[in-house]
Amino acid sequence: MSNSQERLNTPELIEQVISSGLFSFDDETHFNWQGCEHCADGLGAEVYDLHGYRSLEDRELYEFQVCGDCINNQCYGGN
Ligand SMILES: [Zn+2]
Repeated sequence: MSNSQERLNTPELIEQVISSGLFSFDDETHFNWQGCEHCADGLGAEVYDLHGYRSLEDRELYEFQVCGDCINNQCYGGN
């Protein structure tokens, strides 16, 4: 069993989870005073509860609060 803790920071983990495609998120946003865990500008924001896995090999379920902009940018490549 390899347990390679790569110590990624939260935005990197979010990007990996979204790019893996192994994630889902709630239909509705809710307000979170901590804001989005990806863009993290320190302001409250409307965020989705997003949960998923980094890869098929990774059994650990991650949960994040991520705003719609970040989800869209990660899903569709942004620009
Ligand atoms: Zn965001």
